[in-house]
Amino acid sequence: MKKFTSGIVAFLLFSAVAIAQQGTSVYATMDATDAVSIKELFPNEITIFESKHTQAAVLISEELIHKIHDNVKTHGPGYIFRASEEKAIQALDRTANRNPLVDFTITETTFVNECLDLVDGTNIENDILDLQSYGTRYHNKPQAEQAVLDQQAKWDAMILASGRTDVHTRIYEHVNTPMPSVILTIDGANTPNEFVIIGGHIDSTASPSNNDSSGADDNASGIASLNEMVRVLLEKDFVPNRTIEVMAFAAEEIGLVGSAEIAEEYANNGINVAAYVQFDMTGYQGSNSDIYLTTDWYNSSTLNNYLAALMDNYNASGAHSFTYNYTECGYGCSDHASWADNGFAAAFPFEADFGEHNPNIHTSADTYSFFNTPEHSVKFAKLGLEFLIEAAKPQILSVDDFSENAIRVFVKDKTLNYRLNNTVSNVKEISVYNVAGQKIFSEVMNNEEGSVQLQQFAQGFYIAHFTLENGHAFTTKFILN
Ligand SMILES: [Zn+2]
Repeated sequence: MKKFTSGIVAFLLFSAVAIAQQGTSVYATMDATDAVSIKELFPNEITIFESKHTQAAVLISEELIHKIHDNVKTHGPGYIFRASEEKAIQALDRTANRNPLVDFTITETTFVNECLDLVDGTNIENDILDLQSYGTRYHNKPQAEQAVLDQQAKWDAMILASGRTDVHTRIYEHVNTPMPSVILTIDGANTPNEFVIIGGHIDSTASPSNNDSSGADDNASGIASLNEMVRVLLEKDFVPNRTIEVMAFAAEEIGLVGSAEIAEEYANNGINVAAYVQFDMTGYQGSNSDIYLTTDWYNSSTLNNYLAALMDNYNASGAHSFTYNYTECGYGCSDHASWADNGFAAAFPFEADFGEHNPNIHTSADTYSFFNTPEHSVKFAKLGLEFLIEAAKPQILSVDDFSENAIRVFVKDKTLNYRLNNTVSNVKEISVYNVAGQKIFSEVMNNEEGSVQLQQFAQGFYIAHFTLENGHAFTTKFILN
């Protein structure tokens, strides 16, 4: 286990020469101990305004940022960008609320296992190759913006193919970077105001030149893992109880800029984020165990325990088995810190024990050929699906709104027959759910009476949901026999 602090100080001791002040200085927060060590070595490169709760509000020179970034053998920028001195100082007082809004339970074993069976590494491989082909996704390069727009188009095509009208994407423009982020939303059917969010950064960086920054593991692999989760959820026509959001962030590599602006807006708007999980570097297997849960002080131990429980339940044996362990990543090491910073429960499962992760990140050698298999990322896609389905839960259908006067239903020979009693509208769509609330059948109709064949389903209780052209909907329980 390697602490970020030892990385910074070890490097700085080797190169304790004065750095000429040049470029633009940046307001930030960082680990307070790191800030003091840097101040001793480079008194002109850093101004410390205030320290509190192990964090310091600082002004750091651009030159120092490059030195830290290029040489610290850990992940992430090591500091969190702040827009002003005032914002940096305010951030020291932000108290994280690490009480998740929901009880994390494991109840959807059958459905989750069906989804895990569908995870396909070929898709992940193709997406990593797609993203590395931009050459660079450094936040101020035109290729970075193009990668975000293409990512949105990729999601939009998946949504269009699924026929879903409750799944949308949007571009999020930022203040402190020209690069946008992109967000996919699956509307929650029952409690849409509760959000379960996953994400990863889509920008890249490299030394010596940000023009040559393919960023395959960091972090095309994370984005590709997210895409595969979305693809499987749409293939299984998963309608969540809570709202799910999937985010591809701009400008993580320059201080978590994209995720910080989004998380702050969510906090300011009082959005209930039940949990946030980060996927940043999933491709390279550098340690004995497979997935490493980061245990830094700002992470939610409740959420980490839940991810561990999910892996105990789904991945301890059988076709989807893999192992997990724990590690620490340091201050501001990825976008989950932005969510924790704004009081939300956040976690970050990582590809290896820190120090044993992909040695080529932040160089031009971070290409797919270095690890050359999607198998490690497949494990993260599976964990992500387990988390999304179990934390967001499938749509729960209640029979409370059943109105026997509105529609007449009878079942014979595994055929569901229906007729509207009041012919003011037509039936537009029929969906059938099992008793666990999972949608197992859906058909578009355009009539007042008709029937659907359900021969493929076992005998038992089911729920039929009728959506009418006029927007009304009726739900009824029936027995298939
Ligand atoms: Zn990264």
